[in-house]
Amino acid sequence: MALDAKTLPALAAQHAASDPRDILALALREYSPNIAISFSGAEDIVLVDIASKLNGKFQVFSLDTGRLHPETYQFLERVRAHYGIEIETFFPQPEAVQKLVREKGLFSFYQDGHKECCGIRKVEPLVRALKPLAAWVTGQRRDQSPGTRAEVPVVQLDPTFGAPERPLVKFNPIANWTSKQVWAYIREHNVPYNALHDRGFVSIGCEPCTRPVNPGQHEREGRWWWEEETMKECGLHAGNVQK
Ligand code: SF4
Repeated sequence: MALDAKTLPALAAQHAASDPRDILALALREYSPNIAISFSGAEDIVLVDIASKLNGKFQVFSLDTGRLHPETYQFLERVRAHYGIEIETFFPQPEAVQKLVREKGLFSFYQDGHKECCGIRKVEPLVRALKPLAAWVTGQRRDQSPGTRAEVPVVQLDPTFGAPERPLVKFNPIANWTSKQVWAYIREHNVPYNALHDRGFVSIGCEPCTRPVNPGQHEREGRWWWEEETMKECGLHAGNVQK
């Protein structure tokens, strides 16, 4: 079964304050097994934990940019073993990476912004990952980025990767949770987490573009800190950025 796209705004309003478990259960009921959780190796482990306790088949995929921390790779392996699940990994096209590195070196994003590198290492592999799916699940939260995520609904027609002939539904079940609620869940349910979190990292992406934050700093200050606040999306959720 699949939801009627026209009903999604009303459904999002109806579930705006629902428990993530109920939203994920609805997502699996409607789209299993043609639905996947996008797992980045950070807090969206909560989604994997909840889904593993619900009825319904789901897929998990991850984007390996080639620039992740060793701790993130170790964490991905721990998650595979802990839940006994497959994590389908998508890699960037080698030719595109080689061309970028040949022409601009390994750290061009510090000079001309992260969009080009993220486009090659994240967005293109994501397009491939989403192609066979009817729906995907993300760990976006409204409190993650005041500049770009404050309005994230719990379910929406994907404004970036869907198309009229191939609508794609995007679920954001923990949109209404705060970081504090996510961490309360992780501790209460003994959910494995990335060791970098114990070293001051909050929002974790690629190694050269992620740094720990101090108490009181917003988590997004640890990502692409050399760029404008309102541009801090890597392209995976480009629909959040106002044009
Ligand atoms: S986060 Fe940084 S290293 Fe990773 S893909 Fe984007 S620009 Fe490249």
